[in-house]
Amino acid sequence: MKKINQKKQAAVQYTIVPKDLAGHLFNVSVTVALPAAEGQVFALPAWIPGSYMIREFARNIVRIRAESGGQPVELAKLDKHTWRAAPVAGPLTLHYEVYAWDLSVRAAHLDQSHGFFNGTSVFLRVLGQDAAPHQVDIQRPGDPAAAGWRVATSLPELGAKRYGFGTYLAADYDELIDHPVEMGDFALASFHAHGIQHDIVVTGRVPNLDMERLRQDLKAICETQIAFFEPKTKKAPIERYVFLTMAVGDGYGGLEHRASTALICSRVDLPSTAAPKTAERSEGYVTFLGLCSHEYFHTWNVKRIKPAVFAPYDLQAESYTPLLWLFEGFTSYYDDLMLVRSGIISEGTYFKLLGKTVGSVLRGSGRTKQSVAESSFDAWTKYYRQDENAPNAIISYYTKGSLVGLAFDLTIRAKTGGAASLDDVMRALWERYGRDFYAGASGDGRGVTEKDVEALFDEVSGLRLKSLFDRYVRGTEDIPLAKLYAPFGIKLVDERKNAKPSLNIGVGRDPLGAKLNQVHEGGAAHQAGLSAGDIVIALDGLRVNGAPSNLDQLLARYRVGDTVPVHAFRRDELMRFELTLQGCVAPVVTIGVAPGTRKTATVKRPSAS
Ligand code: ZN
Repeated sequence: MKKINQKKQAAVQYTIVPKDLAGHLFNVSVTVALPAAEGQVFALPAWIPGSYMIREFARNIVRIRAESGGQPVELAKLDKHTWRAAPVAGPLTLHYEVYAWDLSVRAAHLDQSHGFFNGTSVFLRVLGQDAAPHQVDIQRPGDPAAAGWRVATSLPELGAKRYGFGTYLAADYDELIDHPVEMGDFALASFHAHGIQHDIVVTGRVPNLDMERLRQDLKAICETQIAFFEPKTKKAPIERYVFLTMAVGDGYGGLEHRASTALICSRVDLPSTAAPKTAERSEGYVTFLGLCSHEYFHTWNVKRIKPAVFAPYDLQAESYTPLLWLFEGFTSYYDDLMLVRSGIISEGTYFKLLGKTVGSVLRGSGRTKQSVAESSFDAWTKYYRQDENAPNAIISYYTKGSLVGLAFDLTIRAKTGGAASLDDVMRALWERYGRDFYAGASGDGRGVTEKDVEALFDEVSGLRLKSLFDRYVRGTEDIPLAKLYAPFGIKLVDERKNAKPSLNIGVGRDPLGAKLNQVHEGGAAHQAGLSAGDIVIALDGLRVNGAPSNLDQLLARYRVGDTVPVHAFRRDELMRFELTLQGCVAPVVTIGVAPGTRKTATVKRPSAS
């Protein structure tokens, strides 16, 4: 963090007030002390870092006007997210309304229960002044529903008291938009991890929320990660960290920031004080902790160690990088690993989670067509805009990327006799590119290129790892987990012959029957002529009712190789298909008990019928 002269007026000043809770409107103003002589240009980002899709946030600006010294100033719109004000001598102010009704971690949301915003949704960028200090006055809404509201954000306070409305100060625009803000009547707990204050904020009704359990578990995870990157000093790269959590009926997601994360989760996944003290952490709670672990790991990996094209970000258009397998995939590799290392889950649970990842990677034939480097590059139009054909066309740089991490880790550990590991590579990336990223002026930090990454892997491991990059990063080869695990006494068994009969589809619910969300290439449904979108209503003359387990129950009475008639609606036309049941398209893998080890786990196919 840079030192800012706090006595000087910030060059760019914003106010934001939740104006109409029922109408979901924030009123925002931005004042520029010294606007550009030729006419000041303003722009709202087209995307938010961490979520690689053009979202065109400016479409939510409802009304906008400019003034200077109380006089209206002409404002011309240049494109979908850019305006230019006519030249003025004195300070220039823009007033605008932002519609905020997107209950996700990526945009802004406002109603009587809370307000949430990312700076990318509400703060117009003042072109030419990105590097100047940016001040924001977050004002309490007048609505009586908001009388008890507090503010949670990792933005540094200026006039505001901690958790209060008032003024906050960012060193530059990049920092301003990297601290999301939550306001409401939230649950709050704090802990210190290696001397650094961490806040957990939970918005949304959660009966008997066990904040103490969250506090203890998150502390263990955060301390493990701080010590991972800085084993000697245990120095966190932050002055404070905030977990902003929205608990809803059904939701899952997170977005990383430099000193906080915005999370959305299902309230049933959060721990309850009503549960017995000795109760094991539920599967849903472990999933939530995995999400927290993932976003926290990003504090180092992607918020400070960054792809070169993100240093600085170009927020007006797509920023292409072939490296998301490293920034998202390796973060996914370490998120669960950090849960084991901090004692949150057992090794057995870890292998179960790994098994799910292996299954989801092996399920789709897209893995044979797109490499993780290509998947990273095309995230904007493919991974983030998946259609029904996604399993047959693309690979996830998260799941396959995490297996690439595992492959590198096992290879380095095996070939160096345990002297080095992927941990050393991550620490070298941190020391060289991450640790001082925000030490200089904005955008000074240096990102990493593909060449840097590959050279660093070889240097740190003392090995020549080009063939792994060729095969698993730039190529589409499956990761040979059995071979890679063998030196560690962990055995993988192909159990294809025991596979249950399957249609090889992804299935969703419909009032009429089972709706095919995906049809896997080469699978039974594909070969019989069924298509995504078809609604299967009968199997061998028996009704398929659309209940989640119904199709599985019907299929359970058959063998792989049996042929059955299937009736389905395509649009409003009834069609009949002869379908020969297959086993799974992808192999089923079991990590079995190997001689001399206690590590066991089963890798199951995901429950697609
Ligand atoms: Zn991530």
